[in-house]
Amino acid sequence: MEKIFNNTQVAFSLKSDTELERAYFLFKLIASEPLVKIGTAVTNFALKAHLPVESLIRATVFDHFCGGTTEDDCLTVVDKMFTKGVSSVLDYSVEGKEEEAQFDAALQMTLKTIDFAKEKLAIPFAVFKPTGFGRFYLYEKIGEKKPLTSEEQAEWNRVVERFDTVCKAAHDKDVALLIDGEESWMQDAADDLVEQMMEKYNKQKAIVFNTLQMYRWDRLDYLKRLHQRAIEKGFYIGMKIVRGAYMEKENARAEEKGYPTPICPSKQATDENYDAAVDYMMKHIDKMAVFAGTHNEDSSYKLMNLIDKNNISKNDDRVWFGQLYGMSDNISYNLAENGYNVAKYLPFGPVRDVMPYLIRRAEENTSVAGQTSRELNLIKSERERRKLHK
Ligand SMILES: Cc1cc2nc3c(=O)[nH]c(=O)nc-3n(C[C@H](O)[C@H](O)[C@H](O)COP(=O)(O)OP(=O)(O)OC[C@H]3O[C@@H](n4cnc5c(N)ncnc54)[C@H](O)[C@@H]3O)c2cc1C
Repeated sequence: MEKIFNNTQVAFSLKSDTELERAYFLFKLIASEPLVKIGTAVTNFALKAHLPVESLIRATVFDHFCGGTTEDDCLTVVDKMFTKGVSSVLDYSVEGKEEEAQFDAALQMTLKTIDFAKEKLAIPFAVFKPTGFGRFYLYEKIGEKKPLTSEEQAEWNRVVERFDTVCKAAHDKDVALLIDGEESWMQDAADDLVEQMMEKYNKQKAIVFNTLQMYRWDRLDYLKRLHQRAIEKGFYIGMKIVRGAYMEKENARAEEKGYPTPICPSKQATDENYDAAVDYMMKHIDKMAVFAGTHNEDSSYKLMNLIDKNNISKNDDRVWFGQLYGMSDNISYNLAENGYNVAKYLPFGPVRDVMPYLIRRAEENTSVAGQTSRELNLIKSERERRKLHK
């Protein structure tokens, strides 16, 4: 497969010189682990103490990784990216809320993004997080098969109702709906619920998509078993395939509680597991749709190869590549330039509420070997290229 991800002219075609410099500065900052640790602590303290740091956050990490504070703010970015064939997934990234009114607000926001997606070609998917619709504790308790009190049962019924409301709306409006994956100790309950939704709303095609985190060594078997059930019950599988964002937390909890970690023994094992899942889905694409959420160039090339090998057209609706806004533009824009389906998650929400998301991004760019240096090298190449062509 021809190597396409080094074309920085395409990758940064939407970035002005100033924007390129800002991105360089930001990646330089977050490349430093101590700086990210101190920055995170100071920012959290400042927000709690109601110090006026929001404009500083906006001018740095927020504007780089988010589309705005509201869904309407994002539309300028959505339209701009779509001029280069890159689609958007509006991601309401408010996390860690625990109250019914907040779950209802997240439900309304998801319904709104489904409407946006219905109206706009540039927004092919809607998305939500299971813990956006219900308390983490409740998912955990159900996953452990512990009996619920009658209040908890009523509360869970409302969670199920919220899932059903958005999945039905997505189905009726023919908008694909991604459901994010979270920590393994709440995920069993979410998986069961999403499967019920697939069974109900994926009768004609994949509308509801669950997420498989392939840093978990048990996920390929899970996919195969789900496939069997889908054949028996006659529904399509929609799946976002990612490596997984909570590795440190997963390992720490397993160690603390004394159970075997659910995480693959090495990065290479995760990589092989990831590619095997994508391969499996592509082999059974007649009954599946795949959204490959990754910044890994190798996995992206492998999927391009599989598209070719399986004689599937590059813009087949059942195969999507996905990256996060603010990261790996070299993958997104070059894929789009070459005719593949690609969508970027575009997070939005009030600055203080998207902080957990932003901290994850900063930490990820610090800890993932090669990721930041790759971004920095690409920006440097593009700077050089522009200098030569001025
Ligand atoms: C569009 C999109 C949607 C996403 N949605 C979700 C989601 O719903 N849920 C979620 O959890 N994450 C999600 N993520 C984040 C994702 O899981 C990864 O954290 C992130 O993309 C980095 O992985 P990578 O495939 O891009 O590539 P790489 O940089 O090649 O891989 C890094 C990843 O490999 C794994 N890894 C690293 N070291 C080891 C090790 N020693 N042993 C085992 N595994 C290791 C970890 O998962 C780490 O994040 C999403 C990412 C994208 C792009």
